[in-house]
Amino acid sequence: MEYPFKQLKKYNNLISIDLQKINKIIALQHVMWIFIFTVLDVPLMIWANIVTVALHFAYSKLLAHHQFQLFYFAVYLQTSIHIILATNFMGWAAGFHYYLLLFPLLVFIVVTGTIKYTVIASSAGLYLWLYHYSQQTTDLLSGQMTEIFHFVNFIVFLFVLTFISSLYHRTRVKIATQLENLATHDTLTGLYNRRTMYEELEKAYSGGQESYVLLLDIDDFKKINDNYGHECGDKVLVQTANSLHQKVKVSGYISRWGGEEFLALIYRENEYEALAFSRKIISEMSEEEAFTYDKSTVNITITGGLAKLTNAASIEDAIKMADQAMYLGKQSGKNQVVCWQELSEKNA
Ligand code: GH3
Ligand code: MG
Ligand code: MG
Repeated sequence: MEYPFKQLKKYNNLISIDLQKINKIIALQHVMWIFIFTVLDVPLMIWANIVTVALHFAYSKLLAHHQFQLFYFAVYLQTSIHIILATNFMGWAAGFHYYLLLFPLLVFIVVTGTIKYTVIASSAGLYLWLYHYSQQTTDLLSGQMTEIFHFVNFIVFLFVLTFISSLYHRTRVKIATQLENLATHDTLTGLYNRRTMYEELEKAYSGGQESYVLLLDIDDFKKINDNYGHECGDKVLVQTANSLHQKVKVSGYISRWGGEEFLALIYRENEYEALAFSRKIISEMSEEEAFTYDKSTVNITITGGLAKLTNAASIEDAIKMADQAMYLGKQSGKNQVVCWQELSEKNA
């Protein structure tokens, strides 16, 4: 059995997963440079890249411990040295300076506090300094090779930029979806919460289709908690919620109304059909394979109260009628559905 929100990931875990990916992409990019500098026979740059790849392995440990800022500053420092070295050897036109532009982008994801602005200012300062300084150096590469390097660096820079932006966007969407789910669903059972159910009730109440509210309450639930513990009670709630959801979804919606109470909205043509549908749910629930917990068998039955929502004075009024009907069902033996309209006809 799965709890619905078990797969929910905390913000820091999501950021950690993203930064691990970014770390891998940067390391791979340095592996590419090891090959290029081997072909060009520039030993210092070969070693600089080998050390960098090794450092990126160490950074993945930092990320696993959620040391994001430390990761950022380590990569920032190391990449700056790298860019200075490469620009010194191959000139400004080789395009290594592009990578400096990635840091202001990442700073907002990882770094907190006003130090962010110092980082942005320092990258801008470094960029300008490098531009000025690299004009005076002699270039290692021929004009055509410089163009090729510029092209490769620009493409790699664009690739990394797109990769970071898309990761960031996907993570934001994931977080927004998780938050929306938390705000609209019950955390334990994953069913609609009261707020979301109320929206559905309002739609049904103002819509033209005939609809009913069915209030459901697990019988003697306190005994389940007392006899088998609260954890068992929780598992019973999750299993019951899953079963009810499967049965109700063909004709409406179900929510966790509170504690061991569920409220369903049922679309049916008339009272007899709504009552037959509700009775079928209740009888199927009691016939279903009993819940087993620690080798004990726990039988679950439910009592329901049904009331017509269409033409009720208000939504609250319909729920009150369903509650009264359910109360009568509890008093007269439980494990059954009582319909408020049927009751009032009998009493009339
Ligand atoms: P009845 O048949 O009349 O409905 O009796 P009952 O025992 O089901 O009802 P009662 O209102 O006496 O007890 C409901 C219990 O449900 C009491 C409360 O501690 C328990 N409960 C409410 N919410 C939760 C929950 O989220 N998890 C667990 N394990 N128990 C809960
Ligand atoms: Mg109960
Ligand atoms: Mg109750």
